[in-house]
Formats: sequence, structure tokens, C-alpha cells
Amino acid sequence: TYAWFSQRAWVEIDLGALSFNVQQLVKFLSPRTQLMAVVKADAYGHGAVTVAQTVLGAGASWLGVATVPEGIQLREGGIKAPILILGAIHTPEQIHAIAHWKLQPTLCSPKQALEFSNTLEAINYTSPLPVHIKLDTGMSRLGTNWQEAGEFVQLVQGLPHLKIASIYSHLATADSPDSTIMEEQQRRFQEAIAQITAKGIKPPSLHIANSAATLTNRALHYDMVRVGLAIYGLYPATHLNKKIRLQPVLQLKARVTQVKTIAKGTGVSYGHQFIAPKEMRIAVVGIGYADGVPRHLSNQMQALIRGQKVTQIGTITMDQLMLDVSSIPDLQEGEIVTLLGEQGKEKISADDWANTLNTISWEILCGFKHRLPRVAV
Ligand code: PLP
Repeated sequence: TYAWFSQRAWVEIDLGALSFNVQQLVKFLSPRTQLMAVVKADAYGHGAVTVAQTVLGAGASWLGVATVPEGIQLREGGIKAPILILGAIHTPEQIHAIAHWKLQPTLCSPKQALEFSNTLEAINYTSPLPVHIKLDTGMSRLGTNWQEAGEFVQLVQGLPHLKIASIYSHLATADSPDSTIMEEQQRRFQEAIAQITAKGIKPPSLHIANSAATLTNRALHYDMVRVGLAIYGLYPATHLNKKIRLQPVLQLKARVTQVKTIAKGTGVSYGHQFIAPKEMRIAVVGIGYADGVPRHLSNQMQALIRGQKVTQIGTITMDQLMLDVSSIPDLQEGEIVTLLGEQGKEKISADDWANTLNTISWEILCGFKHRLPRVAV
């Protein structure tokens, strides 16, 4: 049937697990700390609008995105919650869109603050736009140097059309078991707050913690935490695994499209990078690197079928890959293969792929292409 082909491969999103993770985090936080769910990059590949609806229903009160179009996508999807754009904004068109869609920008420099104020002046914007001040306390990415926090905040405070809604920073090493650098960033953040207070300005909401910092140290929670990875059910580092219980939200699934027997000595896939050491039963599966299964995993990954782990063989191709299914002689075309996720007692996680590829689970999650439908379950 049509449905059979349209679902050759898909990403399954467990909304129950997503709600569970958010509830666990909310329980972990003190009542004065709000939870911002970071849903940039299409909610780390999980599908932004559906994820946003679910996390807001489960206790998150803010959303964080990277870009203006990501914010607009949520508004067009009917999301009413406050949305912070974590990335830098410069053009008048972006500023107009922010004002129109009631998004909340990050201001990273005095120059940018002036651009905002002038652009809003030019369109006779009436109500003050909530803006968020970004301080660089050691990430060396966006933000004004923490030592200039006092002057920066004072400048923004004095500009028409802007209202400071929060002051924040981002941590560079929160997932490391060595907290030395993180503590230095915290000290700098505190120093910046003291400077701002010394100017007679009471800092509004403060935030600095990502998932790892949230799980590591309650002193970093301040008024809000910005959690990405943990809401999707993954731990930012193995030493944080015990802090809170989380359930992975995403599973990657595909169907067997053909099953065949190959003789000993037969080469499999491009370049014949796998040669059958004996007669084998192999399955062709309808998913490949154009769906986001990294080609570097060729001959290095496993999959689950009927609760059993099976081995991937040969080069992963654009739309298809092959598995050694000799252990399942009666395997049928159309059966479901789990590439990431759980079947019975067996499990393959994004961390497994990340370890093989010497990368991080964040990159794995963000790598699934739009060709894969996101199916909420
Ligand atoms: N805050 C900012 C500024 C970020 O860029 C990110 C994501 O990288 C996060 C928070 C969330 O990080 P994590 O997924 O580690 O929780």
C-alpha cells in the first residue's frame, strides 16, 4: 500500500517520555526556577511545534530557539509562550519580524542594542520590546565581556523601546567532571551582577545553566535553566547519569525492503567493503545517509530486529543499508528495524553512535533529515 512506502523509514517521537523528562526536571528545580525548553534546530531533530506543545503542557514555561525563522515557525504553529532567540540578530527585517511575532531577542553588544532601538524608533514601535542581555563569561562565543556588564546594561536601560527581561551567560565546560572552569564562569557572572547592581539597576531574571549545569549544581539554577539535551532524554555526560531519571524520546526506525541469501565470498555494497565470510542471509533496509544515518558508521553499527541485535554490513548508501540477518532465517520484507531505540531488552542509543563517531549525541539527534517523517506516539 501507499502507507507502506511512505513509511520506509521514520523518526518516532515518544511524547509520553518527553513529558516525563520535563516533569522530572521540574521536580528537580526549586519552585522559583523556571524551565526553558531549548527547541532550536527543530527541537534537536524531534519536530519543534509538537515538542513545544508537549513541553509547555508538562511544565516548561519558556522556549529557546536559535533563529528568527525558528521562532516564527512556533508562532505559526500556535505557540503562545515566551520565546527567546538565543542567536544574534542584526538586520532591520529580523528586528521587524521579532516585533511582529512577539519574539524576544538576545542583545550581544552595545552596537546591536542601538540597532534595535533605532529600528524600533523608525517603525514607531510603541510597547517596549523585552530583550535579553548576553554576557560572555568564558565561552568566547556571543555576548559582551562580563567586565563591561555594568556599562552595557546601563546603556540598554537608557535606550527607548527596550526593556531588559533577563541577563544571561552560557557555560563552556559544564559537562566536564572537572568544574574549575565552570566555577570561574560562575564567579565572573556574579561579578557582573554585582557591577550591574552597583549602577543602581536591580537585575531582572538571571540564567546560565544548560542541561549539564542544571544536573551538576543547584547554585547555577538562578531564576531559569535552559535545558535542551535532557528534555530529549539523554545525559550530557556519563558522570551525570544518576542525577535524575530520563527516558530517550527519539527512536529511528525503518523497514526491511528485501531479504536474500548470499554465498560465501560475495561482496556487499559499494566498494565491496564487506565480503561474506560464509553463506549469509542479508536484509536490505530502506534508510541511508541521505536520511541522516552517518556513512562513517558503515560496518560499525548494529540494529534491532525482533528484539535481537544484528550487525550492519557493507558501505551505507544514500537511501539503503544492509544487515546480516543470518540469525533470523524467516525474516520477512516489511518488518520493522530499530536503528536507534529499544526492542525488548536490547537498546541502541544516540550515545552509542556518538562514541563510535567520536562526536556528541547532540550532533546525532540534529542529523536526521526532513525526508524522515516525525511520527508522534
Ligand atoms: N543555552 C544556550 C545558549 C545554548 O546554545 C544551548 C544549546 O546548545 C542550551 C542552552 C542547551 O544546551 P543543552 O542541550 O546542553 O542543555
